[in-house]
Amino acid sequence: MLDPNRPSILVVDRSASNRALICDCLRQLPEITPQAAASGLEALRLFDTRPPHLILLDVALQDTDGISLTREIRTRELTMETDSIASWTPIILLSAIQDEDMLARCILAGGDDFLYKPISEIVLLAKVRALLRIAGMQKELHFAHQRLKEISLLDGLTRIPNRRHFDETLTQEWKRCLRQAIPLSIVMGDIDYFKQFNDLYGHQAGDACLQAVAGALNEALYRVEDTVARYGGEEFAAILPNTDITGAMAVAERMRRAARDLGIPHQNGVSGRVSCSFGIASSFPEHGLPPIDLLKAADAGLYLAKRAGRNQVAQAPI
Ligand code: GH3
Ligand code: MG
Ligand code: MG
Repeated sequence: MLDPNRPSILVVDRSASNRALICDCLRQLPEITPQAAASGLEALRLFDTRPPHLILLDVALQDTDGISLTREIRTRELTMETDSIASWTPIILLSAIQDEDMLARCILAGGDDFLYKPISEIVLLAKVRALLRIAGMQKELHFAHQRLKEISLLDGLTRIPNRRHFDETLTQEWKRCLRQAIPLSIVMGDIDYFKQFNDLYGHQAGDACLQAVAGALNEALYRVEDTVARYGGEEFAAILPNTDITGAMAVAERMRRAARDLGIPHQNGVSGRVSCSFGIASSFPEHGLPPIDLLKAADAGLYLAKRAGRNQVAQAPI
């Protein structure tokens, strides 16, 4: 049984005695779990099901060769990660023949190091340690990068998507809805009399109110493909793919009620409570047209909702 917390090393060699020799040598590193494959096919199966932390790969295999297998592994790694930092498994190629051209071709194919057989235990263990150390640092970098990416797309105060996330998502969803010839709706929301809320209760209470409203608006969206973001100071915007104007009205009404039902007292608010106003707009995306007009239409609806007395949803005439 492989311990998922211990680095595993995949040894690929057609000779059973070589595999046993190398695995025995690796067991001198107590934190390592070796696993072995006799063929390229078996190596790829293990690579897919139990990705190793390092691969020791003999150049001469029966069903393929080490160079082709290295290329195949590098290709698979590209599809394993969608992030800009690709996943990387260190590969050390092994060969019984002293051939510098072969060494160069192995590195070109994506190998990271090369060892001639018979292998010196000291050299092998030293190289394994060094490459595992680099791979560990690369993984940390990868996680830090992912974490930073997540943070860069979240609003620091409310923990819902920020404006950048909104803009990126709208561009993607606009294209997707265009391809699928389905409508896309936008809901723009704005907290009513929020300046007065801050003036009456202080900025900290204002921040807490923003957090509560953001959470309520977020929970008012039921579909996974819907996104609500903090668009500006006390403004929120939702992207509703595959939703027509009737659907947008229903969702915006739900958002309006959710904010209102928080029951946050506001002396100068509509009926003494915090509320939000919303504008909605919907369209079938068209080629060559950016979604800016849709945003403007939702904003115009929001303006109407404010003018009509706030705590309501409105749609501007087209
Ligand atoms: P309306 O009903 O017309 O929307 O009036 P309003 O007072 O909500 O709108 P206005 O645009 O005049 O004021 C928005 C206020 O939102 C100004 C600012 O004090 C407050 N605000 C914006 N961002 C933040 C924030 O991050 N924290 C806090 N506490 N207040 C914020
Ligand atoms: Mg505003
Ligand atoms: Mg406001």
